[in-house]
Amino acid sequence: MTIPQATSLCIDLHCHSTVSDGALTPSDLIARARDKGVTHLALTDHDTIAGLEQARQAAGQVGLELINGVELSCLWRIQTIHIVALDFDVDDPGFRAALATQLDNRWRRARMIAERLERLKVDDLLTKATSVAGGDVPGRPHFARVLVDEGVVRDSGQAFRRHLGAGKPGDVRAFWPELDEVVAWIVQAGGIAVLAHPRKYKMTATRLRQLVSDFRRAGGRAIEVSTSGQSSGDLGFLAELCRREQLLASQGSDFHFPGAPWCELGHIMKMPDGLEPVWHHFRKPVVTG
Ligand code: AMP
Ligand code: FE
Ligand code: FE
Ligand code: ZN
Repeated sequence: MTIPQATSLCIDLHCHSTVSDGALTPSDLIARARDKGVTHLALTDHDTIAGLEQARQAAGQVGLELINGVELSCLWRIQTIHIVALDFDVDDPGFRAALATQLDNRWRRARMIAERLERLKVDDLLTKATSVAGGDVPGRPHFARVLVDEGVVRDSGQAFRRHLGAGKPGDVRAFWPELDEVVAWIVQAGGIAVLAHPRKYKMTATRLRQLVSDFRRAGGRAIEVSTSGQSSGDLGFLAELCRREQLLASQGSDFHFPGAPWCELGHIMKMPDGLEPVWHHFRKPVVTG
């Protein structure tokens, strides 16, 4: 008799490491995921796959299944949107070239953020933010850390509200490619494009439906139905959207750092019934329910 494994699986398809704006190295992240009972993990750093090799080695050692992942920034109607790419071919030359462009875009953007925040009179802001990012390209959370350390703001929340969040001077979007282009990169690399954390964009339901419909038309196949910091109302709304648009359903914690009880690896609200899980469609399908 075979024992069904489904109930013992814990799948988390969205999280970050020090390679972007997370606090744990890829191997420490894997160790923590394993401790939290995660069996299948996608490391989805912002616009980079530089952590995947280390993560894969660590995952192999503890018997955790790693799915290729990355979270790509793009624009839809001048708003920044995040698309999680899953299960793509990491060696695809077109995808690698696209990621190189994104890295370039990120550096250009970091320079412009530093310029736009010059009036805050923080000496060597770009250098400091780069140092917080461990020498890699700094993102907005790294700039936020510098503003806190320099006493410009009280905490990172205030840094985003005043200087880096949507519509503030440090919110530089000009360098991101369009949504269609990013989805096309993923599709041609054999991956699955997932619309990340749809409730985070603070859109009206109508606008979100338009986004989802454009995303689907571009070749997007899944939406993140279950993610951290969502109400059960959000979950129900996204499940309905997912069913209506006949998209696959994904789930992920969007874990960045330990110590935030509302956002932990593998701690994801159970997906509502009647949805088709994205992991059934991986090249090596994960079989559940
Ligand atoms: P970036 O990719 O450099 O634009 O940074 C985006 C990241 O900044 C997100 O993935 C979050 O980790 C973080 N972030 C965005 N908005 C906020 C906010 N209001 N407060 C704190 N962190 C934020
Ligand atoms: Fe982030
Ligand atoms: Fe995101
Ligand atoms: Zn994320």
